[in-house]
Amino acid sequence: MDSTLKRTWAEIDLDALAHNYQVLQGRMGSGSRFLGVVKADAYGHGAVEVSRTLENLGAGYLAVSNLDEALELRHGGIGLPVLQLGVTPADQTALALSCRVAQAVWSESAAQAFSAEARKAGRKLKVHIKLDTGMSRLGFPCGEDGFERSLDAICRVCALPGLEAEGVFTHFAVSDEDSEAGRAYTELQYRRFAGMLDALARRGVRFAIRHCANSGAAVSYPQYACDMFRPGIISYGIGHQADLLGLRPVMTLKTIIGAVRELPPDTAVSYGCTYRTNRPSRVGVLPIGYADGLHRVLSNRWQVWTPHGAAPIIGRICMDMCMCDLTDLPGAAEGSEVEVYGPHNSVNAAAALAGTISYELTCAVSKRVPRIYYRDGEEIGRELLLRGQSSL
Ligand SMILES: *Cc1c(COP(=O)(O)O)cnc(C)c1O
Repeated sequence: MDSTLKRTWAEIDLDALAHNYQVLQGRMGSGSRFLGVVKADAYGHGAVEVSRTLENLGAGYLAVSNLDEALELRHGGIGLPVLQLGVTPADQTALALSCRVAQAVWSESAAQAFSAEARKAGRKLKVHIKLDTGMSRLGFPCGEDGFERSLDAICRVCALPGLEAEGVFTHFAVSDEDSEAGRAYTELQYRRFAGMLDALARRGVRFAIRHCANSGAAVSYPQYACDMFRPGIISYGIGHQADLLGLRPVMTLKTIIGAVRELPPDTAVSYGCTYRTNRPSRVGVLPIGYADGLHRVLSNRWQVWTPHGAAPIIGRICMDMCMCDLTDLPGAAEGSEVEVYGPHNSVNAAAALAGTISYELTCAVSKRVPRIYYRDGEEIGRELLLRGQSSL
């Protein structure tokens, strides 16, 4: 590795991604296509490289959360169909058509606007109808209240010129919660989904691709596989359910012990003097801080994993650095690589300590942290998102 990178970097293990893909595809069955959720730069893992790997493995679709992310995939040479899950302003329809994106449609007025723009462009925009079965986010309401109105509206939407209704989908709110209430709610959401599909079929409206299963459903409700499933977090081998299926974390966030300090007892460490040594201490200075994505709330809580064992983070995490206690790890020396998150030091545990979810921690790994991709155990590429340095 170049010396400039010997600061903080994220190793992306594409073999782990392939392993996770095979496990999940096997679990959901060959009748269900794998849609790789690669929004937010593939949850911080690098959208183009992750997508290329999934494409080669045989995934059927990708999903992003805005058109710029879709464009990034096309510029990166990704040919798979892409579904744009989020809101797109209708005046972006021509762009959606030019980068061959299927757009989620969440209301009749949105559908009408897309239809008008697609007709202007003289093309047909592929759309996936979004059903709201209990998230109360985007979608046609499918609870008792809105059911009939939504049914009529979806029939009209599917008849609009300029649109090709390829798919229909919904999203679960608590499929990853293993409680009785969570199960009941997920089952209710699925009943609403299936109920709307049945009612639409009775009106002659059918879809080529029906999909509902996110990561939680892939783990706990493989019977909801439908035509396609949409695993996000779990395909990256993290989240509290990943261990249940023997999945492997794809990202290892690493830094080095940049300097080692010998500090006498009762010495304050870092901003705010929130930590004081209680013995003669060896303190490691790590070139990683909250600007790299290591949340400051983990100050005095998280640990880094050294080849000699775990070293607690002491004192406040600064923008670009933080400190760790190496007193009990005499072998840990300047220059040693340490794991901030990864197979030995689970990001799930860090997320729990930070009062959040692993999603937020990998998404937070910032653009100044190079991603280094490994396949068959060999480094195959590096990427740095700082302007003007996109490939290394
Ligand atoms: C983000 C997202 C997913 C993936 O969710 P995970 O919990 O990461 O599996 C699936 N479907 C939709 C609509 C999403 O927005």
